[in-house]
Amino acid sequence: MQVPFLDLKAPYLELRDELDAVWHRVMESGWYLLGRELESFEAEYAAYCGASHCVGVGNGLDALHLILRAMEIGPGDEVIVPTHTYIATWLAVSYAGATPVPVEPDEQTFNLHPDKVEAAITGRTKAIMPVHLYGQPADMDPINTIASRYGLKVVEDAAQAHGARYKGRRAGSLGDAAGFSFYPGKNLGAMGDGGAVVTNDARLAEKVRLLRNYGSSVKYRHEAMGYNSRLDELQAAMLRIKLKHLDTWNERRRRIAAYYSEALQNAGLMLPCPPDWAEPVWHLYVVRAVTRQELTERLDRCGIGWLIHYPVAPHLQEAYRGLGYPPGSFPVAERLAQEVLSLPIGPHMSDQDVAAVIAAVAGNSAAAKE
Ligand SMILES: *Cc1c(COP(=O)(O)O)cnc(C)c1O
Repeated sequence: MQVPFLDLKAPYLELRDELDAVWHRVMESGWYLLGRELESFEAEYAAYCGASHCVGVGNGLDALHLILRAMEIGPGDEVIVPTHTYIATWLAVSYAGATPVPVEPDEQTFNLHPDKVEAAITGRTKAIMPVHLYGQPADMDPINTIASRYGLKVVEDAAQAHGARYKGRRAGSLGDAAGFSFYPGKNLGAMGDGGAVVTNDARLAEKVRLLRNYGSSVKYRHEAMGYNSRLDELQAAMLRIKLKHLDTWNERRRRIAAYYSEALQNAGLMLPCPPDWAEPVWHLYVVRAVTRQELTERLDRCGIGWLIHYPVAPHLQEAYRGLGYPPGSFPVAERLAQEVLSLPIGPHMSDQDVAAVIAAVAGNSAAAKE
């Protein structure tokens, strides 16, 4: 039996009639950018997140970048980012011309460790950018407390956390602004690239609206050196359909995560263990294995897909050599890069798929115990 890591076609097959109809509707409308589909999606997604504004943009990286630009964070400024994240978090800061200042994660949650943030604050720090990695919310209360004490902005990187809740409130409503990605593999994915900024700050939303469209609110009048980063009508229309299924899909992910956590208790792995205040949406189900290679070889033999999120921490990437962090600078992130492994998880996996993954992983522990 083969279990792919991710099946991108499955959500299309589930919603084929609706998605095909919407495709025709947008084609026939003769209007492809900055129209009614986008406006409707923005209103619906803001409401979903429990926030007042949503601005659709070209992708998740742009969402984060445009937030920083709208906050007038730029050259000479510092933004605190996690050491353990996808590189886009750091790149958004670099695109703005500011410097990413890395802080290690809490190993239980994989997310920015609130107790380690304060030591990284300098006179140049302007913002903290926690990531809700793997769909688990970061510990936002202490982060917001530190931010308000030092007058810093809080920007959520919510690219993996559509629908996740922290103490009952949704990702996207937990800081000053949040960046979402609708990359096809995310919990809410488009049929191509897409992203959104979600915020309760009307002025910030207006600035992002301006920046995504060449810095212009009146045609051919440019108030800022903006960008071309718009969520197109077709993607917005498809996302409106998919948004209606997001909670059901996240619920299925939760069930699968619960099966894994129950069945793999004695598999000799460190399993994800979200705190009580977290309602994760399981974008990824990430285990830690000290002997990871044995496990990946076994999964390969059993035809089970797996990935590593992420094999090289941003500070050790060639792209960030200029920051001058040698190996050993951030031991927690470096250890996680050696040990983490993502098992297949997704709303369209069957119970048989889940059982096949469990059998393959558990087999590994039996072998390890001999
Ligand atoms: C996917 C992702 C992004 C970037 O989103 P894109 O739409 O691919 O630009 C940013 N941060 C994190 C944590 C992500 O997983």
